[in-house]
Amino acid sequence: MKIVFATNNPNKLKEIQSLMPAGIEIISLKDIGCTEDIPETGETLEANAFQKARYLKEQYGYDCFADDTGLEVEALNGAPGVYSARYAGPERSAEANMAKILTELDGKENRKAQFRTAVALILNGEEHLFDGKVEGHISEDKQGEEGFGYDPIFLPENNLRSFAQMSMSEKGAISHRGRAVRKLVDFLRSI
Ligand code: IMP
Repeated sequence: MKIVFATNNPNKLKEIQSLMPAGIEIISLKDIGCTEDIPETGETLEANAFQKARYLKEQYGYDCFADDTGLEVEALNGAPGVYSARYAGPERSAEANMAKILTELDGKENRKAQFRTAVALILNGEEHLFDGKVEGHISEDKQGEEGFGYDPIFLPENNLRSFAQMSMSEKGAISHRGRAVRKLVDFLRSI
């Protein structure tokens, strides 16, 4: 089976490819000639994931799936959430986003946070939704060089290392995206 994954984020693409079993081939947006920014203007992760998948189906005609992820920090009332990409401004800088969260949590005891991912699938004229979540804490400082986005400041539950200190397969075994994608894979295998 071949299916298009609607992302222009090369890190996400690598993670998703590493989570797919033999027999399911992921096709990237580059492979189909889609280089524009896909609109994501929804107010929830689920709305954004469907917006991206529907855009691709309508503009390019491919069955596909898309994900949208948010970091939800308890002491910030769930922010940045659906606004995670542009938390510190429109340039979508991971460094600036992390710095903003570390400043906002300065001196706060409650550093609980979670990542949530929504995966929207459009296949054979039907829409499906899969979700995944991982709970953890925001560290005091950035730690590690792997991964992307907020990985250097996120310590998953029961772990002393940040996502950025883990290999891709270690992260994928416990991550929000790994959990959502395993549900997607189970579904694709069942049809
Ligand atoms: P989006 O799902 O691509 O819209 O991502 C929203 C924001 O969350 C961006 O700033 C990403 O860099 C960040 N993000 C998405 N997935 C992850 C992840 O697995 N680890 C760390 N940050 C992530």
